[in-house]
Amino acid sequence: MPLTVIECDYISPIDDKSTHVVRDGALVYDASSAGGARLLWVGKRRDLDHVFKFHRLKRIDRRQFVACPGLFDLHFHWVQDDVRLMPKDSLLKWLEQYTWPYEQRFSKPSYTQKRARRFKRELHQVGTLGGFVYGSLHAESVTEALKQFVGDFVVGNVLMTMNSPQYLCQTSSQALKIVKALAKKYTHHYAVTPRFAPTVHPEVMRESARIARLHDCFIQTHLSENTDEIRFVLELFRAMKGFEKVKSYTDIYHQLGLLGPKTIFGHCLHLSAGEWQLLKRTQSVIAHCPTSNASVKDNGLGSGLFSLEKAERYKIRWALASDIGGGPYLSMFDVMNSFVQQHQKAKVKQATYSMALNRATLESAKIMGLEHRVGALSAGLEANFLLLKKTDTQLLTLNRFFASIKERLQHDRASSQELVSETWYQGRRIFSSSSKTTGQ
Ligand SMILES: [Zn+2]
Repeated sequence: MPLTVIECDYISPIDDKSTHVVRDGALVYDASSAGGARLLWVGKRRDLDHVFKFHRLKRIDRRQFVACPGLFDLHFHWVQDDVRLMPKDSLLKWLEQYTWPYEQRFSKPSYTQKRARRFKRELHQVGTLGGFVYGSLHAESVTEALKQFVGDFVVGNVLMTMNSPQYLCQTSSQALKIVKALAKKYTHHYAVTPRFAPTVHPEVMRESARIARLHDCFIQTHLSENTDEIRFVLELFRAMKGFEKVKSYTDIYHQLGLLGPKTIFGHCLHLSAGEWQLLKRTQSVIAHCPTSNASVKDNGLGSGLFSLEKAERYKIRWALASDIGGGPYLSMFDVMNSFVQQHQKAKVKQATYSMALNRATLESAKIMGLEHRVGALSAGLEANFLLLKKTDTQLLTLNRFFASIKERLQHDRASSQELVSETWYQGRRIFSSSSKTTGQ
């Protein structure tokens, strides 16, 4: 069998400050290898004949395209696809009016199956091949997502046992029964997922955190998204026995055993110094969701801007996320673009495209413990990549690449969902915008 060569330009993250940018490059892999194709070699196209002089090569000409690694989204709600563009004047109102009634539909397994199939296609279309996912409170929202989504996903059913509408509320024992069964079955592909502190009884959070540790699962939840929410959480918990002296929102989760290196907190916008310290000490992870936190006029929830400086100062592990449906678009290119625009506007100079790419690929893979398999385009890693059509034929640079995306999204942000021409997973094409191939 010949080796497969994708001839294309490519970009691949090194770290926050640097990126490989290669013009006239080539990605080489053995498509016939069992268990998923891995890249054997990446480099300049002109070196192919020399490096592979004893091999037969099947060349696939994609010289009009730029490849980048499959993308990761560290926090999104796959069951909120239909509410992402609904009015978002206030977080709690948006949840009550649109999000929760919509999530209730997932109580029907046939609906869940149908929607999972559709969401899988959306993931292929935007090139997201991994990340942390919130389902509804129903177990099927986890099983269907894990069955259908292609790539490296960790999924959890949201826990809601109090302060939730009756139609979307479980008893503590119902919730724990599901957690136990799914944690045991899916281990590190499962995330114990308290929706957020006010909707879950403390003893359910404590017990489910214990179950997560027992089965090597992840934990994910929301933390410190806006000031009304923080006030509400603190009032609620300080009136509960055992939490009278709780210092902060983060401290509540800490007391319940939720913090740790396998815990991902969404948002974290209004943390005190003590909370940053706690996250640092426990090596907890933050999912930064710039498009969801953006202003209401930009289809976000207007929650504020994440402090990149503090995250860096406290050496917190973090990566980027769309937070669909708090965020309006699933495309991580929209998220990366918004990340750079918002932080640059706030004069946060370290927020570059290089950092954005790193935090939507390699850094996310590290957080998932998968950097030995995915996250970049280098030899030994899986042949997972996207192809984007080149907009100019001049010298490829990272800034030029993203500048053309920025320009396009300025005119038509919804077109972020159409930036990717092809998505390849383990050496197989699973999406093509021209033929609408959906593969698996
Ligand atoms: Zn969220």
